[in-house]
Amino acid sequence: MSMPDAMPLPGVGEERKQAKEIEDAEKYSFMATVTKAPKKQIQFADDMQEFTKFPTKTGRRSLSRSISQSSTDSYSSAASYTDSSDDEVSPRDKQQTNSKGSSNFCVKNIKQAEFGRREIEIAEQDMSALISLRKRAQGEKPLAGAKIVGCTHITAQTAVLIETLCALGAQCRWSACNIYSTQNEVAAALAEAGVAVFAWKGESEDDFWWCIDRCVNMDGWQANMILDDGGDLTHWVYKKYPNVFKKIRGIVEESVTGVHRLYQLSKAGKLCVPAMNVNDSVTKQKFDNLYCCRESILDGLKRTTDVMFGGKQVVVCGYGEVGKGCCAALKALGAIVYITEIDPICALQACMDGFRVVKLSEVIRQVDVVITCTGNKNVVTREHLDRMKNSCIVCNMGHSNTEIDVTSLRTPELTWERVRSQVDHVIWPDGKRVVLLAEGRLLNLSCSTVPTFVLSITATTQALALIELYNAPEGRYKQDVYLLPKKMDEYVASLHLPSFDAHLTELTDDQAKYLGLNKNGPFKPNYYRY
Ligand code: NAD
Repeated sequence: MSMPDAMPLPGVGEERKQAKEIEDAEKYSFMATVTKAPKKQIQFADDMQEFTKFPTKTGRRSLSRSISQSSTDSYSSAASYTDSSDDEVSPRDKQQTNSKGSSNFCVKNIKQAEFGRREIEIAEQDMSALISLRKRAQGEKPLAGAKIVGCTHITAQTAVLIETLCALGAQCRWSACNIYSTQNEVAAALAEAGVAVFAWKGESEDDFWWCIDRCVNMDGWQANMILDDGGDLTHWVYKKYPNVFKKIRGIVEESVTGVHRLYQLSKAGKLCVPAMNVNDSVTKQKFDNLYCCRESILDGLKRTTDVMFGGKQVVVCGYGEVGKGCCAALKALGAIVYITEIDPICALQACMDGFRVVKLSEVIRQVDVVITCTGNKNVVTREHLDRMKNSCIVCNMGHSNTEIDVTSLRTPELTWERVRSQVDHVIWPDGKRVVLLAEGRLLNLSCSTVPTFVLSITATTQALALIELYNAPEGRYKQDVYLLPKKMDEYVASLHLPSFDAHLTELTDDQAKYLGLNKNGPFKPNYYRY
């Protein structure tokens, strides 16, 4: 069954493309599968993982930057519940095996596996839609033969996704997309279950790339699918192992930042496989970016600083989905919120929502907290940092550590004092202190937990995107960036409705005819903005 031609979707300075709507869900082989497959019990797929003997590590790495031990301990950081200060030895220098004798992983401490398993089971309870997808599809094994190399945050919620992919037939090798966000115990549980995971909380940047490399560069195993969050894995494969793309059937990318890189590759004619832009799926962008950040921004700030928000002046840079979520939470606690924006539409939205839109330089002397959520770089410069008042808190909610110019603070006249895990006081010669959180890396994933339910929505979307790309007949997707078909977005949403005991209204035949819709959806055109 052939797919209709790609339809252009207006993008920022680029032509973004997305698959046209398919009115008949049966055209997607997987949609037919999940709606018809009988329900079966969950069966973990330890046996689906490869247990190839992993080469032992030789030689010490060269650390491109140092990270103090305190940045990896558990105090005031909930990204990992286990205390990783149990030893000073780098995971790269340890010989560890799981209970089946496999050493095909590199985690902080495999002995934490049992604790991590409990964390995963707790996450599963709030990810019932993903588990339901797992149950419905595992009989069909729509990912049989898929070899997925992944680079995402390694949390209990991601573990539920990874184990779902395994249950659907895939083999997975996984690394972390952020050096601080790995839950060590969860990584240990995945390793114990047979997933080749290479990640720990507090990696150096050199470790970060080493872990990605171990996932991609494996004798006797070659990835045929990529699941990326931020584009670093994709970048590494392009740079180091371009031949791997001969076998890759598609890339699924989750973040704004990674998607931006994919569109750049596409524009330059260098994208050599189809890619699915999950970030711009409604079920990702309008839920993960907005609600996840609305619920976790205050948590991250409070755990690290104990700050009280009532009456505090906060400037939020960027009023996109993440910015909107942060602002809603801050406003609800009585903070006085300012917005900076480059886009007049988002700026107007901020005005209509009751926020003052300002230039950062206008308020930088008076604000108590600065939060970046732009996905851009150098939004907060050294000049801004110089002008901040004493005790101003600076943090980032965007994907990359590029938004705050942290490098500019590493100069001899400034003193850095690590006061808590993920909390640095940067001290000026006159005694002024700026409180920098997570060294400018994304705050919620580094310093707090994120709500499981909303991640279930994203994870289900990612799983469907992988299944769709992996099973698509030749020619349905070209070497371009696509959006998940709306029918699948609606399917992801519908899987999550039972958690709320929400009851959808069904269109009557007459109403469907009047609106020109199929009674089973899709219910909105692709250009609808929700
Ligand atoms: P978005 O594109 O909807 O919003 C970003 C906004 O920033 C846009 O409105 C843009 O106009 C504005 N902007 C760009 N440069 C600016 C500048 N110099 N000054 C002021 N405003 C500027 O993107 P989003 O969905 O809000 O995501 C933003 C970032 O957050 C991305 O890096 C994304 O990967 C990340 N993200 C983080 C989380 C999390 O849990 N922390 C979740 C989802 C996404």
